[in-house]
Amino acid sequence: MTQNILLLPGDGIGPEIMAQAVRVLNKLKTDGLDIQWDTALIGGCAVDETGNPFPEETLKKCRAADAVLLAAVGGPQYDSLPREQRPERGLLAIRKEMQVFSNLRPAVVYPELVEASTLKPEVIAGLDIIIVRELVGDIYFGEPRGIEQRVTENGEERVGFNTMIYNETEIRRIAHSAFKTAQKRNKKLCSVDKMNVLEATQLWRDVMIEVSAEYPDVELTHMLVDNAAMQLVRNPKQFDVMVTGNMFGDILSDAASMLTGSIGMLPSASLDANGKGLYEPIHGSAPDIAGKNLANPLAMILSVAMMLRHSLNQTEAADRVDNAVKAVLAKGYRTGDIMTEGGIKVGTVEMGGAVLAEM
Ligand code: NAD
Repeated sequence: MTQNILLLPGDGIGPEIMAQAVRVLNKLKTDGLDIQWDTALIGGCAVDETGNPFPEETLKKCRAADAVLLAAVGGPQYDSLPREQRPERGLLAIRKEMQVFSNLRPAVVYPELVEASTLKPEVIAGLDIIIVRELVGDIYFGEPRGIEQRVTENGEERVGFNTMIYNETEIRRIAHSAFKTAQKRNKKLCSVDKMNVLEATQLWRDVMIEVSAEYPDVELTHMLVDNAAMQLVRNPKQFDVMVTGNMFGDILSDAASMLTGSIGMLPSASLDANGKGLYEPIHGSAPDIAGKNLANPLAMILSVAMMLRHSLNQTEAADRVDNAVKAVLAKGYRTGDIMTEGGIKVGTVEMGGAVLAEM
């Protein structure tokens, strides 16, 4: 049966890197993979056309697709819009609507790019970890939220507030996702919380321990988030799979991405309860380099590989894409963001072409 993919190029470098992903998809299709794709608007370009960063039409197409591939959204021209119309609202909305609660963010250091990291080679060489971040709950969605005029001990003034909240069901489902991810790897899972001060994360820890009874083959450890931030930079190789809530995961996964040297190399997958997913590079729309053929398309192309693996069950095709990226790096091709000594500097289109040649 033909598998349907929805492409959301978005803003900034989004369309440029998506074009390279489409070349890869075309190659796979030509070689016999039974896929087809459609395109829709999200983010700033959707605001420009419809006034809504996540139009109804896009939601309908998301629901109909087997997997969704998103490039990036946002740009400085949208920063002064009302909050509901900002491109980033489109991102939160698509995640919530698709109920993709489990965000898998690998941080892998390719041997050829060890020198591209700001950390010492011995700290990061061989690094291969995954952060599992809960994506549709926590303080980012909790109610009540707002900025209000209130009377405080200082008199009347503005007060900003948000709510950190998790129910058992939400914690349990991300726990299962994380334990299953750990089972496929080194069977080590570190759960990150702040149980010493936040009740919501005390419950997080309690439920993690309860669920661990169903996964006796996985070793579960716990770490407070402040220590986890420190350990990620000090000795990241002590981790294999980490699981944490939406806000802590947002911050820790960005820190982890920097261990690898370039934000332009890292894909991500966000999965729902049935394995349907939203796939996107972890970086943003990079308006500073948009339209200049400078963007690294590899995170986007590696997102295609994750999509083939996790939602479309096409392991062979996924390996083919992953291996082509490895081969391109081994041959020395580099976009500016991952330039190393002796590297062959190429642009977005040339990098896409190099991957295609390896496939
Ligand atoms: P960014 O990730 O877009 O860029 C950070 C830096 O990394 C920039 O110097 C950029 O040039 C560089 N960079 C990013 N991706 C690259 C790539 N593929 N190749 C080479 N260099 C790359 O983050 P930002 O500058 O903080 O945000 C820019 C816009 O993107 C904002 O509007 C922000 O809200 C939005 N944003 C979107 C997403 C998303 O779509 N998932 C994520 C983060 C930020």
